[in-house]
Amino acid sequence: MRITKQYGFEAAHRLESHDGKCANLHGHSYRVEVVFAGNVNTAGPSSGMVVDFGDVSRVVNAIILDVDHRFLCAEDNVGTELEKALKGRELEYLDITTSTAENLAEWFATRIQHFHLSPISPAVTLESVTVWETATSSATWQRHLTNPDA
Ligand SMILES: [Zn+2]
Repeated sequence: MRITKQYGFEAAHRLESHDGKCANLHGHSYRVEVVFAGNVNTAGPSSGMVVDFGDVSRVVNAIILDVDHRFLCAEDNVGTELEKALKGRELEYLDITTSTAENLAEWFATRIQHFHLSPISPAVTLESVTVWETATSSATWQRHLTNPDA
C-alpha cells in the first residue's frame, strides 16, 4: 500500500549557470509530494494505516522549516555578492550544486531518509519525492531509480 501527502513552501533561488531567465533571482511556490509504501498496520494506534499522516508531517514539516521563505543557495555559490548583501539571514545553504527541482527532490529524499526517519515506522519506505517549481513543472526522485538495491 502507498500513501501520499503534499506540502508547500515559498522560496527564492537562481540557477547561476543557466543561460536564460532562471539565472535571475526569482521565487517559486514550491509543492512537495512524498510517497511512502508499507503494509497496513493491524494493531495499535496506527491500525488500518500504513503510517500516521501526522508522523509524516512531523518529519516533512521539520525539513520545510529550513527552506520556507528562504533564498535556496547551493554550496557552490557561497561567498557571492548576493549572499553578502543578504547577510545570511534568509539563506539556506543546501548541499547541492544548483537548486533545480531535480536536486531539491533528491535533497528532500536524503533528509527524510537519513536525518528524520526515526519518527516514521522502520517498516515504511520512502518511495518517491516530487518537487513542483510551478503548477506544471516538477521533478521526481524515485527510490528504485536512485538505489537499485534498496
Ligand atoms: Zn526557478
